[in-house]
Amino acid sequence: MPYSQPQPNVDAAELAKFESLAHRWWDRDGEFKPLHDINDVRLQFITDRAKVSEQDVIEVGCGGGILAESLARAGARIVGIDPARGPLTVAQIHAKENDLLEYPKYELATAETYVDEHAASFDVVAALEMLEHVPDFRITVASLAELGKPGAHMFFSTINRHPKAFALMVVAGEYVLNVLPKGTHDYAKFIKPSELARAARDAGLTVKTIQGYRYNPFTRYCTLCDSVDVNYLMHAQKPIA
Ligand code: SAH
Repeated sequence: MPYSQPQPNVDAAELAKFESLAHRWWDRDGEFKPLHDINDVRLQFITDRAKVSEQDVIEVGCGGGILAESLARAGARIVGIDPARGPLTVAQIHAKENDLLEYPKYELATAETYVDEHAASFDVVAALEMLEHVPDFRITVASLAELGKPGAHMFFSTINRHPKAFALMVVAGEYVLNVLPKGTHDYAKFIKPSELARAARDAGLTVKTIQGYRYNPFTRYCTLCDSVDVNYLMHAQKPIA
């Protein structure tokens, strides 16, 4: 699937941003530093709520594979999919170089294309820090729900469309502190927790937990917190039958 062709529910300009930075993905002090620094907290959030070891797990929008690799190390049969070829190639090479020979498996796909042949296939479905990069997150959430087996655990994370998030992620993160590449985030695409919860319910899911987390780019410390004003994670579940 060439990414240069228009694809449903894919923003070509968004993909171009990730393509241009693909080679920087595993530089822990580079543009993707925040994804490295927050990974343990989000992995813990997932493994506290769902068994991943020897389970079929998919990460949609896996990029260079930071979360996917950690799920593989936790014993998951993890498939990472992403429509951006560059990050996916980086992910494949990085896994091999780090002796992850069987998992993660990677495929060039979106949730919408992958679901055609893989509906109801996964025990755990994760889409972290990606919903704010798609044209319509409601369509993505519906496809993610379809990928899950009955009873599947679903994990999402994104950024709240809240003035505090604009101040921290866009103004401070991208323009003052330069911890994020300029243009990484489009405020209009940020998603309120109530909107994501609604999309999850519309997709037939039960929302179990909405949990804020915060990240300090100076100390590089990430922790769960009560406020969902900026970053948050969601755990939802597909009905058993
Ligand atoms: N989930 C990873 C990477 C987040 S960066 C992590 O948290 O570590 C966002 C990723 O979403 C990029 O790799 C980008 O290519 C991907 N993406 C953008 N649009 C997408 C879409 N429509 N479907 C799936 N992935 C998409």
